[in-house]
Amino acid sequence: MANTDQQKVNEERMSLYTKMEAVTQIPWYYYAAIDQYERSIRRARKDIPKEAGLIGIYIKPEVWAGALNPDPTDTNPLSIQLFGGIGVDGNGDGLADQTNDEDILFAISEHILSYGTDRDNIKIALWDYYKRDKSVSLIMGIAKIYTVYGTLDLDKHAFPVPLGYNHSYKNTWGDARGWGGRRIHEGTDIFASYGTPVRATSYGVVEMKGWNRFGGWRIGIRDVNNTYHYFAHLNGFAKDVAIGQVVEPGKIIGSVGSSGYGPPGTAGKFPPHLHYGMYKDNGYTEWSFDPYPHLRAWERDERKQRRK
Ligand SMILES: [Zn+2]
Repeated sequence: MANTDQQKVNEERMSLYTKMEAVTQIPWYYYAAIDQYERSIRRARKDIPKEAGLIGIYIKPEVWAGALNPDPTDTNPLSIQLFGGIGVDGNGDGLADQTNDEDILFAISEHILSYGTDRDNIKIALWDYYKRDKSVSLIMGIAKIYTVYGTLDLDKHAFPVPLGYNHSYKNTWGDARGWGGRRIHEGTDIFASYGTPVRATSYGVVEMKGWNRFGGWRIGIRDVNNTYHYFAHLNGFAKDVAIGQVVEPGKIIGSVGSSGYGPPGTAGKFPPHLHYGMYKDNGYTEWSFDPYPHLRAWERDERKQRRK
C-alpha cells in the first residue's frame, strides 16, 4: 500500500475511534490499541478470517452470537442477547453484524463499560476478555505509544546504526554459529566499532533492558505491529532509556559492544557487533523471523532520504 493510502485508512480508523470516544467516554487510544493488537494477531495467523472492514478486531461467532445460540451467524440483537452473546447493533440498522466496524466497536465498548472507563478498570476488562496477561500488557503498551504521538501514522523505521559509521552485515539467518542467538542464529549481526551508537528502529515501548548470559547487555523494544526488536551485546545503554519508555525510530538507546557469554560485565569474547533480532507474537506464542530483508530496506530508504 502506498503511504498516502495507508494514511487515508488511518484517518478513517481514527474517525471511528474518536466517534466511539464521544459516545462512550472510553479514550480513542484504547480502541486504537485493541484494534491494532488484534490486527497484528490476525496478520500473524491463518485460522482467523480476513477482516471485512477497517477494524481488525475478531470476535468468534460463538462469542458474538452466544455459545448456545443454534445460529452462530445470528444478526438479531434480541436473540443474541437471549443466548448471552456480546453482539450488538452499533450503527442503528437493526442488525448485530459481526463483520460491521461499528457493531464490533460497540460490542467491545459494552464489555469495557461494564467495568469502567479508567485505566485500571480497562485493564481488568481486557484481562477478563483475553485471559492472557501478555495480551493486556501489549495492548496497554500500544495505547501508550498512541497517547504520546497522538497519531496512527507510526510506520517509520530507522537503520539501527547511523549510516555514517562503518558497519557491515550479511544474511546469516538460521546459521548454526552465532553469538547471542538460541540453538540457531536468530538474527543479524551488524559488525561495527566499539561505541558506535545503536538506535531504535521503530516507534515502540522499551519492554526489557538488562543482562543476559548470552546476549550481554541488551534491550527489547515492542512496536505497534506487535513486533519485538531485540538489540544485544551492547557496550552500555543510553542514560535516558528505561523500561516502559516510549521511543521513536532513530532514538539512541545504547552503543555497540561485545558483552555476553559470562556473568554481568563479561565482554571481549568475540568481535564487537550488534545482534539484532525480530520476533512476532500471534496471541499464543512468539517466534523469531529474519530481520535481514528489513535491515536492507531500512538502510536503503535512509540513504534515499539523505540524498534528497
Ligand atoms: Zn547474532
